[in-house]
Amino acid sequence: MAPVGYTVEVVRSRRARRISLRVTPEGRVRLIIPWWGSKRVALAWAESRREWIERALERARARRSECPPMTPREVEELRKVAKVRLPQTLERVSARTGLRYGRLTIRNSRSRWGSCSSEGNISLSLHLARLPEELVEYVCVHELCHTVHHNHSAEFHSLVNLHTAGLEKELAKQLKNYIPGR
Ligand SMILES: [Zn+2]
Repeated sequence: MAPVGYTVEVVRSRRARRISLRVTPEGRVRLIIPWWGSKRVALAWAESRREWIERALERARARRSECPPMTPREVEELRKVAKVRLPQTLERVSARTGLRYGRLTIRNSRSRWGSCSSEGNISLSLHLARLPEELVEYVCVHELCHTVHHNHSAEFHSLVNLHTAGLEKELAKQLKNYIPGR
């Protein structure tokens, strides 16, 4: 295989217990290091995983070429659907879980599916509107749980699991098959 150029983004994580590598659907290479870990050791390990990274980048590229980016017109069409669908789902999940939020904003975000401010306002990506309902619900649960825990602590994840029938990991895995805007 021809060598592939890539940049390794180093991410320090409070949650991580070991060094790990992730190639995102957009083709970014993230090296996750526990907060106590050595960057030099982690970079050397990443270098030893070069072949794996190149294969993962190749797979991500193939998947992206199967689904080209949405046109601006398609995004605007999707925005209309999102404005009807997302508030309904969020409202329903909020009622079911008893987790309250402030305002909902729908954005053309491609970097994240959702976010929650410290004031409990939720922002959702309009690109959620083309995902299966169970994944939209999962993102809503995730963001609503941030109104209680403003972090990704163990307590946060157990709350998410409580409201997803223990399926957080499985749903998170499914969500990774989608790229916002494609
Ligand atoms: Zn989060």
